[in-house]
Amino acid sequence: MIRKLRYFTFIFAPIAVVIVLGAWSLKQADDTLAMVRLESSVDLAVGLGANALTRHLDTVQRDLRYLSAQDALKRLIQHGSSEALAQFTHDALAFSDAARIYDQIRWIDEQGDERVRIDRVDGVAVAIPQAQLQNKKDRYFFTDTMALDPGEVFVSPLDLNIEQGTLQIPYKPMLRFATPVADASGNRRGILILNYLGKTMLDEFAAASSGLSDDTMLLNAEGYWLKSKEPDDEWGFMLDRPETLGARYPDVWPRIHRSEQGQWLDPSGLWTWRSVYPLKSGTVSSTGTAAAAGPSGARVTSRDYVWKVVSHVSNDQLATLGTRTASRYAWIGTALLALLALLSWLLAIALDEQARARRLLERLATTDGLTGLANRRFFIDQVKQYWGSYQRRPDVPVGVLMMDLDRFKSVNDTHGHAAGDMVLQQFGRILRKSLRQTDIAGRIGGEEFCVLLRGSAVEGARIYAERIRRELEAEQIPIGEVRLTVTVSIGASAFMPDDSIPTAAMQRADAALYRAKAAGRNRVELA
Ligand code: GH3
Ligand code: MG
Ligand code: MG
Repeated sequence: MIRKLRYFTFIFAPIAVVIVLGAWSLKQADDTLAMVRLESSVDLAVGLGANALTRHLDTVQRDLRYLSAQDALKRLIQHGSSEALAQFTHDALAFSDAARIYDQIRWIDEQGDERVRIDRVDGVAVAIPQAQLQNKKDRYFFTDTMALDPGEVFVSPLDLNIEQGTLQIPYKPMLRFATPVADASGNRRGILILNYLGKTMLDEFAAASSGLSDDTMLLNAEGYWLKSKEPDDEWGFMLDRPETLGARYPDVWPRIHRSEQGQWLDPSGLWTWRSVYPLKSGTVSSTGTAAAAGPSGARVTSRDYVWKVVSHVSNDQLATLGTRTASRYAWIGTALLALLALLSWLLAIALDEQARARRLLERLATTDGLTGLANRRFFIDQVKQYWGSYQRRPDVPVGVLMMDLDRFKSVNDTHGHAAGDMVLQQFGRILRKSLRQTDIAGRIGGEEFCVLLRGSAVEGARIYAERIRRELEAEQIPIGEVRLTVTVSIGASAFMPDDSIPTAAMQRADAALYRAKAAGRNRVELA
C-alpha cells in the first residue's frame, strides 16, 4: 500500500502541478482577454453615446443656420413688412412641425422683443399671437447671443425648462441654440433662437450606449449628471443638490475632467470616458457654464463648453467577470486532476504488481525454495563478492564453514523423503536464526550447506560452528509421532591471502569436513 502510494505520488504530483499551473495561467490569460473585451466594448458604448449626442447637436446647428438664411426672415428684418412676417411665421411653423424637436422657434429683435414665436403645444406647432409676445432683453441667452458676430452660435447649458419661474414637471431638458441676425447693411437686428427639446437626444444617447454598458452617463463640465442610470442623480444643479461625480469619486473625476478621453482602472472600477463639445469646433459662444440662467458675460471657445460621456463598470461587476472564469477553470482543473488521480492510481497498481513480480523472480533466482537460504548459484556469486572485499581489506577475515548432515540417507530411508525435507527446513531455520547481517548461508547440495562469516577467522568460525552443531544436536524434530534427532559434521576454514581462487577456502573446509566424517561425525574440524 505504502509503495503504491509512493508510485502514485511520483506520477501524480508533477503532472498535477503542471495542470494547476496551466489552469491558473489559462485563467489569467482568459481574465486578461475578458478585460480587454470589456474595455473595448465599454469604449464602443461610450463612443456610440458620444456620436448620438454629436449627431443631434449638429442637426440643431444646421437647422439654425438654415432658418437664419431664410429669405422671408431676411425680408422681415430688412423691411418689417407684414407679408414677410406672415411668410416667415408660416415657414417656421412648417419647419417646427416637420422637425418636432423644437419647443420654441423665435426671432427676438435687438430690443429684446419677441417678434415671431412658434411654440410646440401638445405636439403641434402654434404661432403665438402678437399680444402674448414678451420682452427678453434681460435673459442671458439674449445678451450673450447679441455679443456674438453673425454666423457665430450660442449654445446654452443643457438644463431643465423653467416656466414662469418654476421648474416644469415632468422635467423638460432644454438646450437653446441662438445666432445673431443682421440686415443687409450689417446692423444687428436681434437673434434667431431655437429651444431644443433635449429628451430625444438624451433618450437616444441612453439607447445607443446602453447595449454594451449598463452604466453610461452624461455629465456636464461641473460633473453634474445630465443622464444617469439613477434618475435621482440627474439635474442636481437645477435642484440645489450638490451631488456630483467629483463629490462621489474624488480620485476619478479630476482625471476625467482633465483629459479628452480615456480609460482608467481604479479601486472603484473601470472608468471610460469621452468628451463631447456642444459647440461645433471653430464656433464661439458666450456661455456654456452650468448656471441655469443669468448671463455669463464671458466668451468661451467651443473647447470650454464640454460634456463628458462616462461609463463606469463597478468593481463588483469586474469581480463577477473574474469569478466566472475562475469557477470554469476550477471545474476543468478539478476534472483533469480527478482523471489524472485515477490514471495515476491504476498505473501505481500496475507498477507495484510489476515490482512485486520482479522481486519474486529475484528471490526465486537467488534462494533455495526448501530452506529459504541462498541457492548454490547465488551463494557462489556471494563467495566471489566476499573474496573481492577480502582482497581489498585482508585485515577483515572471512570464516568458511562446510556442513553436511550425518547419515541423512537413513533419515530418508527410515522416515521418508518428506521427513528428510522437514529436517532440512529445520536446519535452515537454525542457520538463519544465528546469522549476522554480514554473514551468508547457502544450500549448495542436497544436505550440504556452506556459511561465510565476515569478521571471523578460523577460531571464530569454529566457535560458531560448534554452536550450530550443538543446537542441531539438541533439537527434537517432530516427525509424526516420533521426535528425530539429527547431527551435522562441520569443516571450518577461512580465506587466506595467497588463495588463488575464491573457492579455495571452501575446498579446505570440505577437506576438514571429510575428516570430521571420518573421525566419527557430529563434530567440527579445522582446516
Ligand atoms: P554421511 O553424510 O553422514 O556420510 O551420510 P549420508 O547418509 O548423509 O550420506 P550422503 O551425503 O552420501 O547422502 C545424502 C543423502 O541426502 C542422499 C539423499 O537421499 C539425501 N538427500 C539429498 N538431497 C535431498 C533432499 O532434497 N531431500 C531429502 N529428503 N533428502 C535429500
Ligand atoms: Mg550427509
Ligand atoms: Mg552429502
